[in-house]
Amino acid sequence: MKCVKYIPKKNNQLNKFSFSLIYSFLLICLFLPTHYIKSQSKLDSLNFDLKSDSISKHITITAVGDIMFGTNFPSKKYLPKNEDCIPLIDNVKEFLNKADIIFGNLEGCISDNAPARKRCNDPTKCYLFRMPKKFGNCLEYAGFNLISLANNHTWDFGEKGVEDTKSVLDSLGINYAGLDYKPYTIFDLNENQKIGFCSFAPNYRTPSLLNIGKAQSIVKELTKTCDVVIVSFHGGGEGSAYQNVTKKTEKCYGENRGNVYEFSHAMIDAGADVIIGHGPHVTRAIEIYKNKFIAYSLGNFCTYGRFRLSGPNGIAPILQLEISEKGEFVSGKITPIKQINGGYVKLDNEKKVIKKVQDLTNTDFPEQVIIIDNEGNISVASTPFENKQEGNSFRVWLNENYPAYAQQIQLDRDGSYNNSYITKAYQKYGAEYNQVMNNVRRKK
Ligand SMILES: [Zn+2]
Repeated sequence: MKCVKYIPKKNNQLNKFSFSLIYSFLLICLFLPTHYIKSQSKLDSLNFDLKSDSISKHITITAVGDIMFGTNFPSKKYLPKNEDCIPLIDNVKEFLNKADIIFGNLEGCISDNAPARKRCNDPTKCYLFRMPKKFGNCLEYAGFNLISLANNHTWDFGEKGVEDTKSVLDSLGINYAGLDYKPYTIFDLNENQKIGFCSFAPNYRTPSLLNIGKAQSIVKELTKTCDVVIVSFHGGGEGSAYQNVTKKTEKCYGENRGNVYEFSHAMIDAGADVIIGHGPHVTRAIEIYKNKFIAYSLGNFCTYGRFRLSGPNGIAPILQLEISEKGEFVSGKITPIKQINGGYVKLDNEKKVIKKVQDLTNTDFPEQVIIIDNEGNISVASTPFENKQEGNSFRVWLNENYPAYAQQIQLDRDGSYNNSYITKAYQKYGAEYNQVMNNVRRKK
């Protein structure tokens, strides 16, 4: 600055010379850094390209269950403090927006003034959910880019409620599906990966969870053009009495809520890669079927004001998944959360939902080979058994990483384990099966 000020005052040859010197210096200074920065950023983008092409074709998904940031119907008293939804999710934002796909079930419509579809004589007892339009900013803030609308509240405020919801989601660039006339959506990821998403429920104007054949045909159609197909459903009974996957048709409040086990398997049989369930307002077990991941219910993620949040209803997972470019399960993680003060989401230091998913998975899918450790990491061990030589005989012991199997084998600690049980388990492991059965025979 000093030089620049000084130079114009003088007008002799020397100063002209020094001016041109300084001018050239300044030019060099200006040119060098931009050139340097340019080549540096070229290097960075090259590295990045290399990474995304050769390494990271795996897809990361973060998924949560029900979202309802508060309703302006029947009155604004059901909205969070200062009509601000950001504080509801601010504490867990960092666990949401790190994935390629960030999914949630929007349990209600987004509209300022759409009229209720159902007549409601006592609005305090009618559970109709209408989030103000400005609350769309919380979906954006959390990073959601995939939303399911197939549930029992999207149509609470009829056509106008749905139109307003769609216009908010469209304006935010958020992908969505789950309406009777829009059962699926297709979007691009990393330029060269196409994701298909479809969503089902047993409710009014949703693609039906109960018509498995039709749902399968949608999935099959998506597999023709998409690299990965994600299926979401809102189904099963509601509340603490409905935490287990019964593998049967569930009835709740006089309604048929579907057989979510049969549905999920049928979708994978038809070519789906990931199944994300919600609807029971409690968390349920997870399962790996044909190397594809199923979450049977992700519970209440952020449900402000009008939801029961005691016991299992108040805890839930933020589920993080990594799947291969073929859609096969690679790894997962449960981040445990809880809702306090009517719907403010916080990390749960007691990690209750991790224990919950461990217990439910062990109970409902004892044959599973999923390991959920106490930090919530989800993996699949290569084999559930180990062979140990004892003298001249072999014994087959359970890999201690398999809690479900361990429970069963404790009944047979004397070594006279249940042979048919081992046979059944080993049949999953093809080539290893014969070798292990040889060992079992040698022991006898
Ligand atoms: Zn619901």
